[in-house]
Amino acid sequence: MKQNLFIDGQWQAPVRGGTFDVVDPATELVIHQAPAGTTEDIEKAVKAARHAFDTGPWPRMSGRERASYLRAISQIILARKQELGRLEVLDNGKPLPEAVWDMEDAAGCFAYYAGLAEEMDAKPEETVPLSDARFSSKVVREPIGVAGAIIPWNYPLLMASWKVAPALAAGCTMVLKPSELTPLTALELAGIAEEVGLPAGVLNVVTGMGPDAGKPLSEHPQIDKLAFTGSVPTGSRIMAAAARDIKNVSLELGGKSPFVVFADSDIEKAVEWIMFGIFWNQGQVCSATSRVLVEESFYPALLERLVGETAKIRIGNGLVDGTLLGPLVSKGQYDKVLAMIERARSEGATIAYGGKRPVGMETGFFLEPTILTDMAEDSFIWREEIFAPVVCIKPFKNEDDAIRMANDSRFGLAAAVMSKDRKRCERVARAFRAGIVWINCSQPTFTEAPWGGYKQSGIGRELGIWGLNNYLEVKQITSFDSEDAW
Ligand code: NAD
Repeated sequence: MKQNLFIDGQWQAPVRGGTFDVVDPATELVIHQAPAGTTEDIEKAVKAARHAFDTGPWPRMSGRERASYLRAISQIILARKQELGRLEVLDNGKPLPEAVWDMEDAAGCFAYYAGLAEEMDAKPEETVPLSDARFSSKVVREPIGVAGAIIPWNYPLLMASWKVAPALAAGCTMVLKPSELTPLTALELAGIAEEVGLPAGVLNVVTGMGPDAGKPLSEHPQIDKLAFTGSVPTGSRIMAAAARDIKNVSLELGGKSPFVVFADSDIEKAVEWIMFGIFWNQGQVCSATSRVLVEESFYPALLERLVGETAKIRIGNGLVDGTLLGPLVSKGQYDKVLAMIERARSEGATIAYGGKRPVGMETGFFLEPTILTDMAEDSFIWREEIFAPVVCIKPFKNEDDAIRMANDSRFGLAAAVMSKDRKRCERVARAFRAGIVWINCSQPTFTEAPWGGYKQSGIGRELGIWGLNNYLEVKQITSFDSEDAW
């Protein structure tokens, strides 16, 4: 585990010399003292990234050259996926197979953006047809500059990859601030960047607290672009900070995503996808389908089956074989979620399953997978993100009713629909006010497809070509070609 920050291609101790505890959520033991970066370190990191962008080779290389670094990073992540996966489990708590899967996805993300960097060479400019033949115009795309990335703890290395890979592919340089709850794999990524010989200053990693390291990064005048994933309140602060210097901002925020299940669905498949949609990664997924809407006639049978299957989930340390549900990420998160469940109960919700610490598991931030019913549509538990394995279920009368309930939210990240009637699925998919819609499934995520939300779930899209465009400026070059031009 790394002891220092990665700035300007070197491992540097934080200027103020501080550290913070990294806690294994399954054992509650402190496993590491991570370097606590502050304003001074952000200053150094931004200066290094600025220098690397303004005078270094990185933005001036061909896409092919940059791609070779990205591919090398991808290969190392893949080769080290077990070891990096174990580190992610110690840091975050998720079951090891899920963590290893994340490492594969992170490697895939670097390989994918390597491909897009190469494609940029193949298509360096586009011609724009103009209405006046005396002029010609073309469009070139250029890296936006120095990017700052601030990320959460639920998919530590994967969230880093979603930002680092497209930014580097575009020719940007970056300062990355991982979550203070899960700093370990981001520092490993810095080590991998060093190993592949990434030019100094292209990727800088500063770990530390949000207010001490994230805030100065978001406010820094030398940053051209801010990419943030996290909660709505922090996103709002980031946007306000960016407003002062008119920085380009992309935000991936929270959600309370609906899953609409019609009565003609196969009950086994419905239960399987509902469980995947809310219990995967302990429900700590921004796109988790945490509001399940079930057609009235199907509701009793589905609920009974869901409770039965949920009771079979094996809870435990993510490093133990067969664990399906690990602990929540931190004590703070654990206490917050228990308080939310208690509030829901006191406001009239029924706990159909779970809602408490599993019997016999006194250490670790473990919570039973939880199913809540009978909450009011205007209740806080139905409307607010819990970010835990807690699902709210409600019956609906008909398609219009389901769409109204699904869209009645300040969030709009994801939504899912299940029915054997393909036309109905298409109709409902179009009616959802959400950036990501799944038909007859929930959560499958592809590096090639756009990711992001409507409404308060964010601004902009990551992944795919949209992710690359986040880090590119568009320049028009128009020429007066008439013979009497000059
Ligand atoms: P958070 O907002 O508390 O923290 C996110 C990051 O912001 C952390 O690195 C933190 O240190 C930093 N931060 C905190 N205060 C800051 C400040 N004042 N200025 C700058 N940076 C600051 O969120 P979290 O608890 O880490 O993550 C959970 C949230 O993230 C959930 O709401 C979830 O839905 C969302 N999320 C969204 C997506 C998506 O793709 N839309 C993906 C994962 C998580």
